[in-house]
Amino acid sequence: MRRMIFATGNENKMVEIREILGDLPLEILSMKEAGVYGEVEENGSTFEENALIKARAICKLAGEMVLADDSGLEIDYLNKEPGIYSARYMGEDTSYRIKNQNLIDRLEGVPDEKRTARFVCAIAAVFPDGREYVVRGTVEGRIGYEEKGENGFGYDPIFVLPDRGLTTAQLSPEEKNRISHRGNALRKMKELLEKEKIL
Ligand code: IMP
Repeated sequence: MRRMIFATGNENKMVEIREILGDLPLEILSMKEAGVYGEVEENGSTFEENALIKARAICKLAGEMVLADDSGLEIDYLNKEPGIYSARYMGEDTSYRIKNQNLIDRLEGVPDEKRTARFVCAIAAVFPDGREYVVRGTVEGRIGYEEKGENGFGYDPIFVLPDRGLTTAQLSPEEKNRISHRGNALRKMKELLEKEKIL
């Protein structure tokens, strides 16, 4: 079976990726499992560019097909901040309790209809022969008034799904995968790889 490396060190992502891409004729490996190590500077100006930068760099190192993702939160009222800087917002080592409270504070007095936001995930596929593909998945929501929920990570406790009246931190992992930006992007990538007979 052909191998594909997913450029992440995050085991939770690998579980989700294997669930969604599991029925493709591919053996999916993390960087660690493939024995590939390398830090990549994500210096692009869009999610798509950053995903491509990561996938290209790891593809060059590994000589095998690579998928990479880049994701973050866009808040419309804050000109789409924190965007591609979501992980680095207020510093990598600052806790999400502090980051989330800061975003809530910056939206003080902003009414519901202007608190719109989305999680975005770009996934890039890069092949040793130079072929490159990139897709984007999103999930729409609103920024809440306080943190709610214990599941998920990062900005999940303040990201409210208006239809459900719940934050993504109040969903089970399975429910979140079904609607998430990363789930949506992975499903799009799967469709692309299948339809275009890329594999
Ligand atoms: P990365 O793509 O794994 O580097 O994620 C970028 C950052 O975006 C994370 O560190 C989080 O701050 C944020 N983020 C991405 N996806 C999610 C999510 O599903 N829930 C909460 N925060 C997220």
